[in-house]
Amino acid sequence: EVEPPASPTPDAEPHVAHNYSPIPVTAATAEGAWITDVDGKRHLDCLGAYSAVNFGHRHPRIVAAALEQIQRVTLTSRAFRSDRLEPFCAALAELCGKEMVLPMNTGAEAVESAIKVARKWGYDVKGVPDGRATIIVAGGNFHGRTTTIISFSDDPEARAGFGPYTPGFVRVPYGDVEALAAAIDETTVGVLVEPVQGEAGIIVPPADYLPRVRALCTANDVLLIADEIQSGLGRTGRTFAVEHWGVEPDVYLLGKALGGGIVPVSAVVADTDVLGVLHPGQHGSTFGGNPLAAAIGHTVVDMLTEGTWQQRATDLGDHLHSRLREFIGHGVVATRGLGLWAGIDLDPSLGTGKDFCLRLAEHGVLAKDTHGSTLRLAPPLVITVGEIDWAMDRFAETLRDH
Ligand code: PLP
Repeated sequence: EVEPPASPTPDAEPHVAHNYSPIPVTAATAEGAWITDVDGKRHLDCLGAYSAVNFGHRHPRIVAAALEQIQRVTLTSRAFRSDRLEPFCAALAELCGKEMVLPMNTGAEAVESAIKVARKWGYDVKGVPDGRATIIVAGGNFHGRTTTIISFSDDPEARAGFGPYTPGFVRVPYGDVEALAAAIDETTVGVLVEPVQGEAGIIVPPADYLPRVRALCTANDVLLIADEIQSGLGRTGRTFAVEHWGVEPDVYLLGKALGGGIVPVSAVVADTDVLGVLHPGQHGSTFGGNPLAAAIGHTVVDMLTEGTWQQRATDLGDHLHSRLREFIGHGVVATRGLGLWAGIDLDPSLGTGKDFCLRLAEHGVLAKDTHGSTLRLAPPLVITVGEIDWAMDRFAETLRDH
């Protein structure tokens, strides 16, 4: 007889598909940087829903905008206009220094939409022969989980078992300008890149990388598409991570924090000569740009226009990184990041990143591993210096307890 596999803990969520393995903390309420679980224990949220709650849980100004809109109109579909969409798109376009916004819902949808736009732009504007357009992507990329997006991932976990894969992508190593230059040909319509790679472990590219990518794209009539879904909207100490290198992409992809931690809101932002290639019927989404999303997204844009969040991320980030550096050689091999966003390579002898996160959670700090023994921290930008210190003390305890 075959023994059933031993299950160390009963499955707490037997009706939820097993596509995640969550840290066993069950949130009941949350406010600011804190999550309270069903047993009343408080945890400091140092993940911030992968940068989707940049402004903290239930930020009063965003909640007020959402509640006000819920009392007016929440969903019309794009079959009719709402009085919220154009003002939101105008404000977001201005924040990006662009002319037009294509509103969508999730990050992956924004990426998919940009792929369609770049291909169409390639055929209609650049003159690439029909069906031949290629988009260059980077090794170690993470742009979402749809079939097309995982087709150009090099992460076996994301990819294996989900073929056949969508053609039309060329992958070159991240940070390698020569490889990118060699990959560009007359079929290239876009270069899709994360200015800082999030899921890969908060990988900041060499200083000359993005400026040289920009120059290559300009010289070869190729769209530079910056996926700022995780890096954008204040996280790195700038509105957009590309600003650290003085680079202006042709297309911004935004998501996560754009929804204020309340609803999914994503966007493709570009000039009219790019987004104008879409005509009625060629692309759409029932929920994209709905009045509730637009009211919330507009509030987020207004908050970012004031510039204080970016400064806060810079100042708190400096503090976080200097605290983290103290652990190098004491259980931590390396740390890196930008603004209030950190990747931490743990000494592999301490176990996997996942094991470490489980132990850290017992000390009241919520974080998430990426690959192997790398941890990532992206706390809400409302976190205080005192709370960062508290988290770092718990981090030290967790290292010591091992
Ligand atoms: N792009 C980047 C850079 C991301 O980090 C993510 C999510 O982590 C996505 C796209 C996908 O966003 P979503 O999970 O909302 O589809």
